[in-house]
Amino acid sequence: MKAIRVHEFGGSEVLRLEEVAAPRAGPGQVVVRLRACGVNPVDTYIRAGFHATKPPLPYTPGMDGAGVVEGVGEEVNTLKVGERVYVAGAVSGTYAEQTLCEASRVHPLPEQISFAQGAGVNVPYATAYRALFHRAQARPGETILIHGATGGVGIAATQLASAAGLRVIGTGGTEEGRRLAQAEGARHVLDHRAPDYLSEVLTLTGGRGVDVILEMLANVNLDRDLDVLAKHGRVVVIGNRGRVEIDPRKAMTRDASIHGMMLMNVTESAALSIHAALGAGLENGTLRPIVSRELPLAQAAEAHRAVLEPGALGKIVLLT
Ligand code: NAP
Repeated sequence: MKAIRVHEFGGSEVLRLEEVAAPRAGPGQVVVRLRACGVNPVDTYIRAGFHATKPPLPYTPGMDGAGVVEGVGEEVNTLKVGERVYVAGAVSGTYAEQTLCEASRVHPLPEQISFAQGAGVNVPYATAYRALFHRAQARPGETILIHGATGGVGIAATQLASAAGLRVIGTGGTEEGRRLAQAEGARHVLDHRAPDYLSEVLTLTGGRGVDVILEMLANVNLDRDLDVLAKHGRVVVIGNRGRVEIDPRKAMTRDASIHGMMLMNVTESAALSIHAALGAGLENGTLRPIVSRELPLAQAAEAHRAVLEPGALGKIVLLT
């Protein structure tokens, strides 16, 4: 079967399409014939060699994908060959025609969700769910600022928060992105490239500020986020690409909390609960993954360059 292999950490040119042996399912495992795999920014950090996770070389990148069950190992009685599924992490990587997974990380994909959409479920939606409901403890009726509402995690968070009865203020860097965030449930959208755009958050909330902020670029925004946070507000740092200086007094005077989060820290039981919620949302139509671009597996390098460019409009996926 074909798979993308990385033999040395480096730029996107180290992603090479190769022929490798097809995986076989051991006890408790499943082989999935993938139709699409999701490209996440974290895949680029790992490939470059500057992420805390450094897989032994050579490796196949990717944690997200969707397809059909090709084979099941002993002791697997929850999945059947031929079933449509999405995967939430893989033993052998998902930038491949087939992937080996622990059965607990393979979840049903409803008929109305395409394989390309299914490839955009795991990291974006599980991260958004974890940030909203586990870390920020967001509640219906609260107001949330999704700071970066146009990318994979931001669109997922916008759909999840609006379906749960929060009032969403989203931000995007392009007109098209802001229109998309609004279509997916943001009540108001702001341009995070415009000067002084955050003062509009105070106008929109009658000076009170927002209860929750999901932050996709903390090194740029964290200090100014605290200016638009209501008393007892919570910020969840999801994305960060550098250092930032903050004035802790702003958190102090609001009894505010700043939470970090890393999807990889989620326990097995919390992950099962998150995917049960996501499965229900995919089934009832409140969760609708948005695919901005589909590329063939052979163009993984182009996908890695594109996922770091501004102007996000949902997910980039590779078709296998
Ligand atoms: P993505 O699809 O590439 O989207 C990036 C988002 O960041 C877009 O909405 C983009 O908006 C926005 N952005 C750009 N400049 C911004 C600014 N100045 N202020 C606020 N937002 C800005 O990436 P993603 O998959 O959604 O992930 C978002 C971030 O979270 C990445 O850094 C990723 O590594 C991180 N992440 C962390 C975890 C975790 O476990 N902690 C999990 C998943 C992702 P425009 O393109 O419209 O400008």
